Order: sequence, then C-alpha cells, then structure tokens
Amino acid sequence: MATVPDRSTPAAPRRKTGRHRGEGQWAAGHFTPLNGNEQFKKDDDGLNVRTRIETIYSKRGFDSIDPNDLRGRMRWWGLYTQRKPGIDGGKTAILEPEELDDEYFMLRVRIDGGRLTTEQLRVIGEISQEFARGTADITDRQNIQYHWIRIEDMPEIWRRLEGVGLSTTEACGDTPRVILGSPVAGIAEDEIIDGTPAIDEIHRRIVGNPAFSNLPRKFKSAISGSPLLDVAHEINDIAFVGVRHPEHGPGFDLWVGGGLSTNPKIGQRLGAWVPLDEVADVYEGVISIFRDYGYRRLRTRARLKFLLADWGAEKFRRVLEDEYLLRKLVDGPAPEQPLQRWRDHVGVHRQQDGNYYVGFAPRVGRVDGTTLTKIADLAAGHGSGRLRTTAEQKMLVLDVAEDQVASLVAGLESLDLAVRPSPFRRGTMACTGIEFCKLAIVETKARGASLIDELERRVPDFDEPITININGCPNACARIQVADIGLKGQLVLDENGDQVEGFQVHLGGALGLEAGFGRKVRGLKVTSAELPDYVERVLGRFQAERADGERFAA
Ligand code: SF4
Repeated sequence: MATVPDRSTPAAPRRKTGRHRGEGQWAAGHFTPLNGNEQFKKDDDGLNVRTRIETIYSKRGFDSIDPNDLRGRMRWWGLYTQRKPGIDGGKTAILEPEELDDEYFMLRVRIDGGRLTTEQLRVIGEISQEFARGTADITDRQNIQYHWIRIEDMPEIWRRLEGVGLSTTEACGDTPRVILGSPVAGIAEDEIIDGTPAIDEIHRRIVGNPAFSNLPRKFKSAISGSPLLDVAHEINDIAFVGVRHPEHGPGFDLWVGGGLSTNPKIGQRLGAWVPLDEVADVYEGVISIFRDYGYRRLRTRARLKFLLADWGAEKFRRVLEDEYLLRKLVDGPAPEQPLQRWRDHVGVHRQQDGNYYVGFAPRVGRVDGTTLTKIADLAAGHGSGRLRTTAEQKMLVLDVAEDQVASLVAGLESLDLAVRPSPFRRGTMACTGIEFCKLAIVETKARGASLIDELERRVPDFDEPITININGCPNACARIQVADIGLKGQLVLDENGDQVEGFQVHLGGALGLEAGFGRKVRGLKVTSAELPDYVERVLGRFQAERADGERFAA
C-alpha cells in the first residue's frame, strides 16, 4: 500500500520547484493564502466548525455565527445558507452575500454509493417533516438535500442521522465530496465488478480526515463496475470504471480531471488498470496530488482538470506512480460502449440472486419527507431492506421477490413515482434554482416539472431516450453541457423587450463513450414561458427527419 505522509494544513512541501509558484501550489512551497477562501481554510480547519455549531451557534442562534463560518466553513458539514425568498434573479449578481442570505440553511446528507436502508430512509423522511418543512430533493450526486434548516436544530439532526449511520461530513466545501457508486452494485446480473468495498475503504481513510480537508476546491469521485457506465464518470475529478483486463480479470479503468462549470472537461484515461483492493491507494494518491499540486490562486482554476490540462495524462500518471504510489501501475483497456443509452436503472430488473430491483422516477428529483417515509414503508412492506439513489435524481428499491413486484410497482405509482415513466420524466433533471439557491437567476424545479407534464401531453408518442437538463445559472449543477438539450438559466428579452427569466440553449451533449459537450447555439435563447413550445419544435423536427436507428442528437 502507498503511504501518503500526513500533510494536513499547512502541508510540508515535497519539493520546491518554484515553477508554479504563481498558482499558489503547496508543492511549490507557496503557503501564503492568495484569496479569502484559502485564508479562512488556513485560519481554521473547516471540520472544526462542528464543535462551534454544537456548543455556540445552535444555542445563541443565527446572528452569533462568525461570517467565515457562515459563508465558508459550514460547508464542511453540508450547510449552505439558502436564498432569502422574494429576491429576483436580476439581483443575484448585484447584492452582497449577506443581502441574499436567509437565516435558514440548505443541508446535504451524503449517501456514498447511493446506499440506503429502509431505516435510514425513514429517518431522512422524519427529519424532513420535523425540521425542513417537508423538503427533500434527490440530487444528481446521489445525495438528499433539505431546505429551511435552522441552526438551532443541527445537533438533533446530526444525532438522528448518525444514529442510523448517515452523515453530512464534507458533503460540501473544498473536500472529498460524496463518492458516487453504481446504484446496482452487488446486485446487477451484468455487473463487471462490485466497487462497494473500495467506496467503504476510501470513506474510512479519507472522509473527515484532516489530511484531506483543505483541498484547492471540491473533489468529485465516482466508482462503478456496471457496463452501463451509470455514475457520470466522465465529469468527475477521479473515476474508476469497471473493465475486464485480458490477463488480470475484472478491475477498474482510471479516469481523472473531469468537471463541468468553467472550462468544462471530459476526464482523461490514464491507461491504468486498478484491481479492487488497490483502488483506495490510487484514490489517496490522486487526491494527494490535487492537494499538493492543485492551483490555489484563482477559484476558477482550482479544480484538478486545470492541473491535468497543463501536465497531460502521461506526466500525471508518472507523478502518481513515482511520488505517491512508489510503484508502477498496470496498463489496461478502456471500457466498452454501453448497450443502452438510459443509465438510470428505472423499471423492473432481475438481480443476480433471482430477486428484482425496481427503479422509479419522481419529477426532477423532487420528493418530500412524507413521500420518503411512505417509500420506506412500501419497501419494507414488500420484503426489502435496501434502497439506492441514482446520479440521475432517481431511486431504486432492491431485493424484491418476484411475487411482490406488481404490488410494489402499484404502490409506487400511487405515490406518483413512475416505474414506467415517459422519456421526459425519465430524462429531465433540474438543479435547485432560484427557490433556494443564492447563485440562481431563474426558477428550475417547478419549471422542469411543468415542462415534463406539457411534453407528455403534447408529444405522447415520443419514445427515444432524451436528456433535458435545466440549470438556474451558468454553473453546472444539473450537467447542462452533457445533455441532449441543456438549458442554462439567464435573463433574456421577451417580445416586448422586457427582461424575463429564460435560458441559453445548448444542444447535442452526451455522456458515455461518445461523451461531448453540447453546442451553445449562438443567439438561441428562449424565455421560460416559451420553453415547452421550443422543446416541442425541436422534438418534432427530430421525429420528422431522423434516419433509422439515429439517436436524438440535436
Ligand atoms: Fe444554484 Fe446555479 Fe447550481 Fe443551479 S446551477 S444549484 S442555480 S449554483
């Protein structure tokens, strides 16, 4: 096993090259903070804010919170202030952060690998009902997200979550975020390899470890042994993708440096095959490179993809092998093209053990506490103790006996959780948007839900896999660049020349082995009100002009 020295803040330099001193790299001996975020991280480890929340802030209330904790370190425990209601999107870029801050928080519960027990889901649902005004969204990173959280309630919320083995540790912040995992790990009939032991080992070693709690920015991870490539591995900082090595058997192909937002990049393969029991070592090596060599001057250049772009895959692998693992990696093959485009596992599918899993689709990931509790009861009532969230804002019930499937499907459908959804419900995702997000310019969740309903009514015979991703601002939380139709929220002019909510349209993005970014169609902007008409026109044109077997690609 590679031993990575403990270099928690401030790190000891490995060597001083001076070459990238201007980028604020620790490995170049540059420890003077170059921006406010680096300063507050140096002043105090984000993990330490938990004690202050429990002993001071939860007792004295919102106004007692140190501003550097409020808008900085709280994230290390999954907490962001939410947007004050009633502030329109035109003011987002104008107002000071404190003018946008509400006294309530968004709270993210990390669910590594998307794995939940019925007991855990019930607790998540109860917390939603008692402390979050019933809110609960399934995110496209397999987390559950609450809103309306009061700081006073955090000690009790942690007590309940941690009582059933859940946590909010490093759910946000410049940290190792939730580790995405195949929702069908360990159960799918077509699985290449089960990555679950690696997820658990990485979590044990890395999450909450002060040696990795001050990264240049967020670090996103994904591990899947499913041939469906079901964790959006292409856009994570590090990803392990199941492959069969011709000599060594099942293992993982290593990808690094993916990410959306500013300068979106598809991750690059390092050409290395990693066996299951070495995944955590390699993960530790890559996250250590990011911590030590990652750029810390500009937040917009602080993701791993920028370092990879400067180094190239060959140098990155060499540094990983020579400085961190202290051994060479085995060369390996690339993953194969998946046989189907849907990667969400929605529907009824047979497991390895002869039972079934049932995947279902809420609208744009929006559920609520009561519904989550009912899902837990339904699953338990049909003999299941396990559920999974997906990276497409969907959910699965596992381990259902054949004679229980029909009844479970009927129960889910009665909760408006579609097991056989339209392509629109299945393929539409939306980020949080202006309802709660301080960076948002436009509304997204309700807009996405009504778009689904409209398209189901207007284009009932459309039967192609299609992805429609809706963001409330130029960030990329709902992955607009890799959708068939990506919608980036912004203010646009309507026919009267008035500024209204709308979207810049990106067309033809994709994940999978044909991964690429959608084309930003110059000048193509639609108002929110025009959105159903616009999408209907695009779909109609595709239906009229497509060649046999052609997938939707605008
Ligand atoms: Fe907020 Fe923008 Fe992310 Fe949507 S894409 S959740 S509006 S930051």
